[in-house]
Amino acid sequence: MATQDTPGTTSTTSTTDLSPEALDRALAPLAAALGDRLLTPASDGFADAAAVFMGGAERTPAAVARVRDADEVATALAVAHDAGLPVAVRAGGHNLARHSLLDGGLVLDLRLMDGVEIDRDAGVGRAQGGVLAGDYIVAAGEHGLATGFGDTGGVGLTGLALGGGIGYLSRAHGLTVDNVLGAEVVLADGRVVRADADENPDLYWALRGGGGNFGVVTEIELRLRELPVVTGGMFVWPAEPATLAGVLTALAEAPAELSGMVNVLVAPPLPMLPAEAHGKPIVMALVCFAGPADQAEAVYAPLRALAPVHDSVGEIAYPEMFAGVGGPEGGMPGDARTGFLGDGAWAPDEAWATAAVGAVLGAPPGVAAVNLRPMGGAIADADPADTAFAHRDAAWMVTVQGMTPELDGLAGLREWITSTADTLGVGGRGYVNFMSTATEEDVRNAYPEATLARLREVKRAYDPGNLFASNHNVTPQV
Ligand SMILES: Cc1cc2nc3c(=O)[nH]c(=O)nc-3n(C[C@H](O)[C@H](O)[C@H](O)COP(=O)(O)OP(=O)(O)OC[C@H]3O[C@@H](n4cnc5c(N)ncnc54)[C@H](O)[C@@H]3O)c2cc1C
Repeated sequence: MATQDTPGTTSTTSTTDLSPEALDRALAPLAAALGDRLLTPASDGFADAAAVFMGGAERTPAAVARVRDADEVATALAVAHDAGLPVAVRAGGHNLARHSLLDGGLVLDLRLMDGVEIDRDAGVGRAQGGVLAGDYIVAAGEHGLATGFGDTGGVGLTGLALGGGIGYLSRAHGLTVDNVLGAEVVLADGRVVRADADENPDLYWALRGGGGNFGVVTEIELRLRELPVVTGGMFVWPAEPATLAGVLTALAEAPAELSGMVNVLVAPPLPMLPAEAHGKPIVMALVCFAGPADQAEAVYAPLRALAPVHDSVGEIAYPEMFAGVGGPEGGMPGDARTGFLGDGAWAPDEAWATAAVGAVLGAPPGVAAVNLRPMGGAIADADPADTAFAHRDAAWMVTVQGMTPELDGLAGLREWITSTADTLGVGGRGYVNFMSTATEEDVRNAYPEATLARLREVKRAYDPGNLFASNHNVTPQV
C-alpha cells in the first residue's frame, strides 16, 4: 500500500498496488453479491457515486459498493481485507477531510441504508447508517420530537454523530454523542455487534467521538425529546466590531436553552440575506431557543438591543430551522481550519472582533467566513470522560472556512484561511468533524492524551489491523 498527498487535502490516503486484472479478480465475490450496485470507474454513474460535498480533491476510488445491509457490509469488508484493499465509508459525503474519497480504495456507500424509525412511546429514534440528518429531523418532527444534530440537513446523521455533533440544540440537550443510546456495528472481522451501556461499553464509549475508527455503524439509536416548537431563525447586523463583540457576549451569557452560531462574512447575494446587506461585511447569527416564543423573548432582548437589520426569529417547528438557509450546494473546492477558544462564558473582545471583520474584508471570492459556535450549557455539564468527545470546557468552537467556485482559487483561499486562523488564534485543540486535514497532529488536537490512549485500547480490541484507517485515524499503536 502506498501513501500519497493530493492537491485537495493533506490527509493521508492509501492506494492499492493491485493491477487492474488482480483488482477485478479481488472484487469478483463482491460483484457477485451486489451486481450493478458495485461501481468501478468504468461504470455509468461512478462519478456521481464517488462525488463528495467538499470538492477540490483529485482522488479516484477503485470501486464504490452500494451496500444495503449488515451482511453486505461484512462481505465488502472481507473482500477488501483479503485483497489488501484500503476501505472507506461514505454516508452523507460531507466530511471536510473527504475521508470517503480514497484513492484506489473500496468505498462502502451506505446511502441505500436510509431507514428511520421513530418509537414515540419509548422516546427512541433509530436510523440506518446512511440516513441524512434532515430526513430523521423531519420524521421525528412529525411527532413533535427531536434529537439535536448540526445546522445542515444534508449531513450524514451517523457521520456527524460519531464525531460529536454540535448544532441548534447542543446547549439545551447536549451534543449528538450525548444522545446516542446504542449502535449496531459491523466490525473489521465481519462480526455484527451491539454497542451500548451494557453490551461492549468500551466500544459504545469510543463511538461517541472517536469517528469511523472502529467499525461500520449500520444502525444508530438516539434519544428523542419532546420539542413541539422552538423559537429561532436569523439575525443580521452590519459587521461593526462593537456589534460583533456584543453579539458574542450575549450568546456566551445566554441560558442553556439558546444554541446557535455566528458567521462573520461578506454577504453573498443570496435571497435569504437582506438585499441591502449584499456585498457588505455582516454578522449573521442563526439561533435556536428550545422552547416557545413567550419564554424566548427575554433571552433574545440583548441581541435585539443591538439593532439587527434583519430579524426572522420567531416560533417555528424545529425542522423549519433547516429550511431556507441556503449556501453552496457542494462539489465546490473548499477548506477550513478549526479550534476551540477560551473557556466558560468567555467571549472574544472588541480587538478580536476588529481582526475578524478586517479578515473577512480581505477574503478571496467565493463564500468565506469566520464561524463561531458557543459551547457551554449541556455540552459542558457532561463529564468529559463519558464520551470520546472530551473538549467540553471550551467557550467557543471557531472555524475559518471557505469554498471557491474554481479549483485554481483554492490556493488563495487556503492562504486566507491560514493567515486568518493565525491572526485569530484558531488552531490547536479542535473538533474532529470540522478538520479538513487528518494528520497525526490533527488527531492529537482532537483528543486529549488520556482520551487518545483509551481510544487506542479500544482500537486494539476491535480493529487491531487498522482496516478502518480512512478517517482521523486512531492507530492501534502510537
Ligand atoms: C455544510 C456542512 C455543514 C456541517 N454542519 C455541521 C454541524 O452543524 N455540526 C457538526 O457537528 N458537524 C457539521 N458538519 C461536519 C460533519 O459532521 C462531518 O463532516 C461529518 O463527518 C459528515 O458526515 P457525512 O456522513 O456527511 O460524511 P461522509 O464523508 O460520508 O463520512 C465521513 C466519515 O464518517 C464516518 N462514517 C460516516 N458514516 C458512518 C457509519 N455509518 N459507520 C461508520 N463510519 C461512518 C467515516 O469515517 C466516513 O469517512 C458539517 C459539514 C458540512 C460540509
